[in-house]
Amino acid sequence: MAQRVTYRRRHSYNTKSNKIRVVKTPGGVLRALHLKKRGTAPKCGDCGSALAGIPALRPREYSRLTKSQKSVTRAYGGSRCVSCVRARIVRAFLIEEQKIVKRVLKSQQAKK
Ligand SMILES: [Zn+2]
Repeated sequence: MAQRVTYRRRHSYNTKSNKIRVVKTPGGVLRALHLKKRGTAPKCGDCGSALAGIPALRPREYSRLTKSQKSVTRAYGGSRCVSCVRARIVRAFLIEEQKIVKRVLKSQQAKK
């Protein structure tokens, strides 16, 4: 019952770029369907997790997408994940607050 299928191209090794799917033709014959390589999802540049809302495609396929399909409408969208952006905003806010506190303390000491 088990029917074997053969590659339909001259590349004869089971590598990442030579993957097949076995399909049954309308005539009832099992045949190898050559698949394209799987895409990888874009990763956050800080933590390395896959970015949400952006499809995992092959590099050439991204050129066919519009800008809104390749990013999310947020600061650092399409480059950093939401938790890393939040951490950046909080860090920047706290640094600015610290600067203000330092300035206030300095002016109070100058009055004395
Ligand atoms: Zn991240």
